[in-house]
Amino acid sequence: MAELTAQTVKEAGYAAGLDGVGIANIERFKDAPPQMNVVNIFPECRSVIVTMRRIPRGVYRGIEEGTHWSNYTYYGYNRLNTLFRPIGTYRLACFIEDHRWEAVPVYPGVAETEPTGEPLREGQVGPNVFPAIRIAGVAAGLGEMGWSKVFLTKRFGPRQRLGMILTDAELEPDPLIEPGSICNRCMACARECGGHAIPLPREGKTVRIQIEDKVYEWGDVDMGKCTLTHHGLNKEVSPFLSRDCPGLRLNVAEQEMSEEEAYKLCYTVAGGTWRKTDEFPTGNVVDYYKTMLQSTGYFAVCGANGCVRACMIDMERTGRTDGKFSEPFRKRPKWRLNHEGRIVE
Ligand code: SF4
Repeated sequence: MAELTAQTVKEAGYAAGLDGVGIANIERFKDAPPQMNVVNIFPECRSVIVTMRRIPRGVYRGIEEGTHWSNYTYYGYNRLNTLFRPIGTYRLACFIEDHRWEAVPVYPGVAETEPTGEPLREGQVGPNVFPAIRIAGVAAGLGEMGWSKVFLTKRFGPRQRLGMILTDAELEPDPLIEPGSICNRCMACARECGGHAIPLPREGKTVRIQIEDKVYEWGDVDMGKCTLTHHGLNKEVSPFLSRDCPGLRLNVAEQEMSEEEAYKLCYTVAGGTWRKTDEFPTGNVVDYYKTMLQSTGYFAVCGANGCVRACMIDMERTGRTDGKFSEPFRKRPKWRLNHEGRIVE
């Protein structure tokens, strides 16, 4: 059996359908909080492999045109995160174990989630440990955090989802990306975010981490506003809310909800039903949200108009991605809706 090396792991990852494989040594995680630290999942871990699958640019086409939404949930989020990307990660984990090293494929949950129980053994953290997958991606040299907190790579800009494998095999780590070499602080993300969730640098809301000698910084995104918008309680980006709740006036820019509050509200509305009337014959509070929830357990609405689309457009326009297209993405003026669901720009 051939020796397991960084090179053979990467070749196997690409053969398994992945679009990127990065490797970090375990030392790069020494400052991670215990509840997010990979060593608290696999104490013998020596290398952290971060796997990546691209989001096709065309996933955003329907929302860009204002005509088709469900691709965004299926191919940009839910099925990409729960099916397409994990298949490659799973195959790579099996390849590593065929070489007699243990491979722990970690599904990237919400790192900020509080532990759901007491430690089982004295001195341990409680379940569940969730590593911060994007920070792991930085540690594995795949890319850097954009100002928007979205993970950026030179090849795809903001268009990818990440997974992770922990292994006790010692593999050659990839070099870290130079901070600021992909995100140029153009602020297109902050200007175009329909949730007004991304701060401008002058607001002084910055998150900072250090890995080895490199310091990475990004904007401290308002996750309450982001969640309200991503999950459809923002009429600027959702024609469905305007249709099914025409009288609602909710200015997301003025909200001060936490991410948790926003999730509670969004999923309650999305899963809700009321009596059927001639005006609302399905009885669903917001018909599209309920339909998507029933088919995937997830629904995404905003189309990432700032953090992905605006960023991607600017990176492509200025030649900062390796992936090239024969045509620019934006072909018609961008849109934003008023409370009545009509385009105002
Ligand atoms: S749009 Fe992209 S490149 Fe520009 S500041 Fe935001 S994250 Fe950075």
